[in-house]
Amino acid sequence: MDTNAAIPDPAAGRDVYRRHARQWLAANLPAQMRADSLEYRTPTLQECQAWEAAMHRAGLAGMTWPTVYGGHGLSLVEHLAVNKEVGRLLMPESVSSIGKELAGPIIMTVGTEAQKQRFLPSILAMQAYWCQGFSEPDAGSDLARLRTRAVQEGDAWRINGQKIWTSGAAKAHYCLLLTRTGVVADRHRGMLMFAVPMDTPGIRVVPIKSIDGKTSFAEVFFDDVIVPDSARLGAPDEGWTAATRVLGIERATNRMYRAWRFEAELRFLVQACKSDARLSRLLDAQFARQIGEVVCQIDGLKGLVERSVEQLMAGDQIGARGSLTKLYWSECHQAFAGLALGVVSQVRPDSSALARRAREHFTHAYFFSRAETIYAGTSEVQLDVIAQRILKLPKD
Ligand SMILES: Cc1cc2nc3c(=O)[nH]c(=O)nc-3n(C[C@H](O)[C@H](O)[C@H](O)COP(=O)(O)OP(=O)(O)OC[C@H]3O[C@@H](n4cnc5c(N)ncnc54)[C@H](O)[C@@H]3O)c2cc1C
Repeated sequence: MDTNAAIPDPAAGRDVYRRHARQWLAANLPAQMRADSLEYRTPTLQECQAWEAAMHRAGLAGMTWPTVYGGHGLSLVEHLAVNKEVGRLLMPESVSSIGKELAGPIIMTVGTEAQKQRFLPSILAMQAYWCQGFSEPDAGSDLARLRTRAVQEGDAWRINGQKIWTSGAAKAHYCLLLTRTGVVADRHRGMLMFAVPMDTPGIRVVPIKSIDGKTSFAEVFFDDVIVPDSARLGAPDEGWTAATRVLGIERATNRMYRAWRFEAELRFLVQACKSDARLSRLLDAQFARQIGEVVCQIDGLKGLVERSVEQLMAGDQIGARGSLTKLYWSECHQAFAGLALGVVSQVRPDSSALARRAREHFTHAYFFSRAETIYAGTSEVQLDVIAQRILKLPKD
C-alpha cells in the first residue's frame, strides 16, 4: 500500500484534491476488497482497520477534523469530493463509522480539551472503536423514554440499565452512552452522555443474531458500572441537546458517499447482467424502466447531499432537514435493492462468474436494506419530523 502519498494542498483547488483521492484509491484499493471484483472475499476486521488507517494517512479520512486532533483541517467541500470518489468504488463500509461520524463530532462539540486529545486521534488512527448506546428495549424512536440511570456519587457516576441494537458493541473500546439522571417523566430533561470504556467492570455484551446470520449488534447490560466524572460528555442536563446533535449528524452528513455508491452498485448490476447473454436480454426486456427510475432517484439524492453541503458551508444548521436526506436515501436504496434482488434471482449456476458475484452482493444488500429504513430513525419518524418541524403541520 502506498501509504506515503503526498497530500495535496487544498488551496490548489477542489479538483486537485478529488484527483488525488481518485488516483490514490485506484492505486491502493486491493481487488479482494472490491465487491464488484471476481477476487472479492469478505475482509477481516484487521484488513479493514489497516485499509482505513492507510486512507487516513493519505488524507482521505478525518478531512474536516482539526489537525491538532489528527485531522486534515479541511472543509466539507473536500470531504464531499473525497466521498464521491469513495462511493465510486464498492469498498467495505467503514468499521469505525460510529467513532468517525458520531462520537468524534460530538466530542469535538461538547467534550473538554482533555477528552478531545484523549479520544480523537485514536479514532482516526483506527486504534479505538466506538459503539452508540442510545436505544433501549422500550425506547427506540422515542428516546425520551430511556431508563438507563446515572447517579452521581462524589466524583464518580454509577450506571444501571440496558441498551439494545448496539452495533459493533463486541469490538468497541468505548460506548457513547445516553443515560438519564432524573426520572422517566422528565422526558428530555435530565439526560447525560458519557464516554464509557467497554472494559469497565459491570458491562455485559450479549450478541444478537440478525437475519443475514451476522452478530454485528448486541444487547449491552450495565450493572453498577462506575465511571469517573471525566467520562461525562457535556454538562449534566445537556444529554438531550448532545443526542439530538448526534442524530442530526447521523441523518444529514454521515456516509455522504451513499448516492455515488448506489450508482456504483447500479453500474455493477448492469455490467454483471451484460456479462451473461440471457441476463442481458432479461434486463432489457423486463427491468429497463425500473432501472431508469433508480437512476433518477440517485440523481435526486446527489442533489440533496450537495445542497446540504452548500447550506452547511454557508453557516446554516441542517437540523430537521436531515430527516429529508435520511428518508430519501433509505427508501431509495431499499427500492433499488428490491429491484436488484429480482434481477439476481434469475442468476443460475451456469450464469457468468460476475453475475454469480452480483447475486451474492445484492442478496446481502437486500437483507441489509431492510434495516436502512429503521436505524438512525425509522421512516415513519422522519415523516413525523418533516410534517411537524419543516411543514409545521399540526400534531393531530
Ligand atoms: C441495523 C441496525 C443498527 C442499529 N444500531 C444501533 C446502535 O448502534 N445504537 C443504537 O442506540 N440503536 C441502534 N439501532 C436501533 C434503532 O435506532 C432503532 O431500532 C430505531 O430507532 C427504532 O426503534 P425501535 O426498534 O425501538 O422501534 P419502535 O420505536 O418501537 O417503533 C416500532 C414501530 O413504530 C413506529 N413508530 C414509532 N414511533 C412513531 C411515531 N411517533 N409516529 C409514527 N410511527 C412511529 C416505528 O416507525 C416502527 O415502525 C439499530 C437498528 C438497526 C436496525
